[in-house]
Amino acid sequence: MTAADSMARRLAAVQQRIREACASAGRAEDSVALLPVSKTFSADAVREAHALGMSRFGENKTQEIRQKAAELDALDLRWVMIGHLQTNKAKDVARDVAEVQSLDRIDLADALQTRLAAAGREIDVLVQVKTSPEESKFGLAPDALPAFLAHLAAHCPALRVQGLMTMAINSDDSAAVRACFRLLRELRDAHRSAAVPLARLSMGMSGDFELAIEEGSTEVRIGSAIFGARHYDH
Ligand SMILES: *Cc1c(COP(=O)(O)O)cnc(C)c1O
Repeated sequence: MTAADSMARRLAAVQQRIREACASAGRAEDSVALLPVSKTFSADAVREAHALGMSRFGENKTQEIRQKAAELDALDLRWVMIGHLQTNKAKDVARDVAEVQSLDRIDLADALQTRLAAAGREIDVLVQVKTSPEESKFGLAPDALPAFLAHLAAHCPALRVQGLMTMAINSDDSAAVRACFRLLRELRDAHRSAAVPLARLSMGMSGDFELAIEEGSTEVRIGSAIFGARHYDH
């Protein structure tokens, strides 16, 4: 069996699990998008996934996007930033990235606005909210969301706000994981408006996406279940 065969099998299995989770939650089978997360995997792995029909890829480092984008220049790919972003990377984002799901603070929004305006571009963004008490998790505090959305509406026209993103607590306690996803959906329901409907909820990863779909996810971010185990030593 070639590597491509096994990626095809893994991808098909993930897609099947997404459809089953939708069905058991009483949701339409096409109501949850799949964002493959290719961080730490090679450009060749991205090429294989593209051949299987994927065209958006989640990454967490601008430098890695730069390298893969250069290697895969001939393919029409959309790079999605899902990792913590330093403000000094705004210029790289404005150049290489189609969408940011990890927008979590005003200084980053303002830096992106400045760089995107200079480049004459607009991008889709999701606001990352911290729904878990873990110190290691990034994201905006839930009670800061209304003021943050107001700031984006008033000052950041190059950032098209599409919804919210979160990472649940890393825990075997499914009730604790579910509570993170539920909080994100409740925040969306509380803070959406006609002007900013917050239609997208990016939540769920390889280990917890079925719970996220039950709680209303519209997009799951899946790395290892498609690409295999990650090794951080290269
Ligand atoms: C790495 C990562 C994922 C994918 O994680 P897997 O467990 O490999 O599916 C999803 N979201 C974010 C923000 C990530 O950093």
